[in-house]
Amino acid sequence: MPYYWMGSWKDPYFTLPPRTEGYLFLSLHLIILAFVLYRWREDFRRLGGRGIFLFLGLALAAALLSNACKFHPASEDAVLVPARPDLPLLAGVPTLLAASLLGAGPATLVAFVGGMVRGLFESHLILRPFEIAVFGLLVGFLIRQDYAGRLFSTLRQPLVASLLAALLAWTIFFWSFYVYAAGSFLYVYIDSFAAALGYLPFTLLEGLIAGLVVQTLLLLFPKLKPVIEARRTPPYGYSLNRRLLFFVLPLILAFILALFYVVNVQAIRVATDQTIVQMARDAQNMAEERIPFFLLYGQATLQGVARNQDLQSESYQVRQDRLEKDGRSSAFFRQLFLLDNNLALLNVYPESSPEGPSLSSEEVAGLVKVTGGEATSQRTLAYRLPTGDLVISFIERLEDEATGEPRGILVGRADMGESNPTMRSILTGLQPATGGGLGFVVDERGYIIAHPDQRLLLSPWTAEGSRLPSSDSLPGEVYQHTDKGGETRLICHIRVLGQPWTVVIMVPYQVVMDLAVKISGPLLILLGLMTLAVTALILLVISHLTRPLQVLAEASGQIARGDLTAQVRVDGEDEVGRLGAAFEQMRVRLKESFEAIERERGRLKAILDSTTDAILVTDSRGHLILANPAAEHAFGIRATDAVTRPLAQAIANEHLEQLFTRPAGNREAIVEEVSLSDGRTLYASAATITDGDGRATGRVAVMRDITALKEVDAMKDEFVATVSHDLRSPLTFMRGYVAMIPTAGDLSGKQREFVDKIIKGIDQMSELIDDLLDIGRIEAGVGIEMAPCEMSNLVRMIVVELRGRAEAKDLKLQLGLPPTLPPIIGDEALIKRAVYNLVDNAIKYTPEGSITVRVRERDSYLVVSVSDTGIGIAPADQMRLFEKFYRIKRRDTIRIKGTGLGLAIVKSITERHNGKAWVESKLGEGSTFHLALPKEQPERSRR
Ligand code: ADP
Repeated sequence: MPYYWMGSWKDPYFTLPPRTEGYLFLSLHLIILAFVLYRWREDFRRLGGRGIFLFLGLALAAALLSNACKFHPASEDAVLVPARPDLPLLAGVPTLLAASLLGAGPATLVAFVGGMVRGLFESHLILRPFEIAVFGLLVGFLIRQDYAGRLFSTLRQPLVASLLAALLAWTIFFWSFYVYAAGSFLYVYIDSFAAALGYLPFTLLEGLIAGLVVQTLLLLFPKLKPVIEARRTPPYGYSLNRRLLFFVLPLILAFILALFYVVNVQAIRVATDQTIVQMARDAQNMAEERIPFFLLYGQATLQGVARNQDLQSESYQVRQDRLEKDGRSSAFFRQLFLLDNNLALLNVYPESSPEGPSLSSEEVAGLVKVTGGEATSQRTLAYRLPTGDLVISFIERLEDEATGEPRGILVGRADMGESNPTMRSILTGLQPATGGGLGFVVDERGYIIAHPDQRLLLSPWTAEGSRLPSSDSLPGEVYQHTDKGGETRLICHIRVLGQPWTVVIMVPYQVVMDLAVKISGPLLILLGLMTLAVTALILLVISHLTRPLQVLAEASGQIARGDLTAQVRVDGEDEVGRLGAAFEQMRVRLKESFEAIERERGRLKAILDSTTDAILVTDSRGHLILANPAAEHAFGIRATDAVTRPLAQAIANEHLEQLFTRPAGNREAIVEEVSLSDGRTLYASAATITDGDGRATGRVAVMRDITALKEVDAMKDEFVATVSHDLRSPLTFMRGYVAMIPTAGDLSGKQREFVDKIIKGIDQMSELIDDLLDIGRIEAGVGIEMAPCEMSNLVRMIVVELRGRAEAKDLKLQLGLPPTLPPIIGDEALIKRAVYNLVDNAIKYTPEGSITVRVRERDSYLVVSVSDTGIGIAPADQMRLFEKFYRIKRRDTIRIKGTGLGLAIVKSITERHNGKAWVESKLGEGSTFHLALPKEQPERSRR
């Protein structure tokens, strides 16, 4: 295969396709090109200054490399219509680079420019630029596509993309061959198929080289690699149907192509073999029978004429009569010459002929041989008469019958053309049975001496072309030859038996193709029909298989959207059918449970709606998620507006905010009185909502209107304050007199006992009145002094004071203090009183066990907790415990003395200190009273 560093740049032109389909393809290509430029216009817009420079450089490189560094396949070794394309080794490189660096649009244009050069200077096919552009488009698309998945990431590799694009582009090269070939569809199809097939290795090699070069470049300079975020779902990823088609259709296509290939190749081979056999047989018939017969017949006829004694007669007339009679009856010779031994002309048949009675130089040369005694008979080479007719002359010696002495010479001129009946039958026989062929005879000089076309007679002929291997078993030799006009022929030559002549039979390759079409035509049509049928069947089967799955997917989508009403209907007992049935069951179950949940929710809502307690619920971010009608009423809000907003925005209430923001333990309730703007008071208890894993997911508060209770309380306070104040002086007065009774005279034992009892009663009453007055004072805030005090000292003192009482009841009194505690601001005497009351109560209401006093720091508070293992308090009582005079009436506590004011004082004191007092208790297990006091006091209350 010859190699050129640079192809020819002379004589650029395009030939137009002879087939009308060519224009159809041309317009199709134009549309595709326009579409590509439009679809990937972004690639061009993105180019920028440097990009345009690069693009132009690559286009120029493509133009140059398309006509340089190329192999040119020799013309004899293949049958190609209309011309075999070259193999420019590097032509694909600029296109691939453009695809990698600039995108599919620029790659298509760069390829188009290269294709223009190849079309103009090499194949002259007008479709060529477009076909090469398709390669550019494919390679650009493959390298720049951003589909996810391993397959598509492999396809982005330049080597893979280039090879695949070359293969795909090759399938359309076929049509180029097709539209430039003449003949019936099937004939041209087979012919173009053979041509395109011959071009396949070249196309792939070109793709391979370009791929290798660019892949290596990208490996060396990874920065050049296009950055592609492969996130898009591949086109087949959307449905099972498409996925199956994506893999099955190419398989079918490849299968069909392979079948077409096999049928075509086989048909062409069989047709070639058959044609060769037929040709060889025709040629053999000529070379071994007809032509030897022609020569033998000529010689024998002349001998027969020469043997007649009349020719040796002395009389001119006798000789002439004989000559004319024999000449006419044999009809083989156009002229007969009778000469004597001295070569003087005696008689001529016919007497007058256009050529005249002169002998040709070839005849004279033959005569010399015969008279010299070298031979008795002779044959000349074929030669032209002055009239232009080709003839051959036979020469025979006349002999004396008795002695065998030479008596003269007879020359017979036989026509090599149609006028000779024997020759005529040879010439017809030379036209092979395989129509369209042509046969002729070549003599020892290499001149054509028998040919249907008279003009070619005596023109030289030499054997050329490549010998076909199949001719080994046949008598002659078979060659294949393509002439300069591009026409290919099969040529068979065979030596004529016993003569230095050669019979040549030529058959145009078209005959082979026609035969191939006859052989493969029905097969191809059948194959085409079967392809259609199989494809349709597969499409049908796939859609049939995937339809139930589609139904399932749709149904599950509906369920996911929350619509549980539509029934899932998939028939059949196979896997999909069972899946469908399971799905339907699942849907029904789900629907039932949803309905149950809905009913439950309705019930809960009804309960929440009808309760008179206000209920508020917030989520973990502190946004309101529920407010029942009682809460709406209490806070004057509308649930629809308030829900989903942050609580502080939805309801402006300081106490409420505290309730929902104050830190609290998991099971700890936060209790708060919430005063409303209209003067009402709610008693609120809030708790943290925890999920199964113990994580806090929000808070719920239940609030009860205690306004009426509050009013009663206030009235009671007022009444008590007045009464106790008024009772105090008489009591002091009474105690004074009672104490003085013994000074007024001796008392009997009984009297002394009564006096003591009166004093004890008065003391108890005074205590009560003191408590009452204390409460009044604390509530009024009289004489309170805020100063730093050490909580640990204070608690320790109380424990020391009360230890005796505890031990008397066999109770353990424990103290739990952290190593350090910050001082807090407060009235030390009051705080001490409050804690004292709590510990005192714990001792009073704990029959056995222990009492623990703890102080801990929590945020900005110190919390004093007094826990006991005592009798505990029922939840109903816990709410009212801190009210004045509230004492729990139980049989086992009836004998424990108390005023019912201890906890009320605790509450008043803590409130004074802006603190909080609450209780956690379980009946029969014990109680814990907490006292939370802020470490700092606002300036205002310090004074
Ligand atoms: P009292 O002077 O009756 O103790 P308090 O106001 O101190 O009045 O207490 C009110 C009621 O609370 C008591 O009557 C008692 O029933 C209950 N109580 C107080 N502390 C405890 C406790 N540690 N264990 C059980 N019940 C208690």
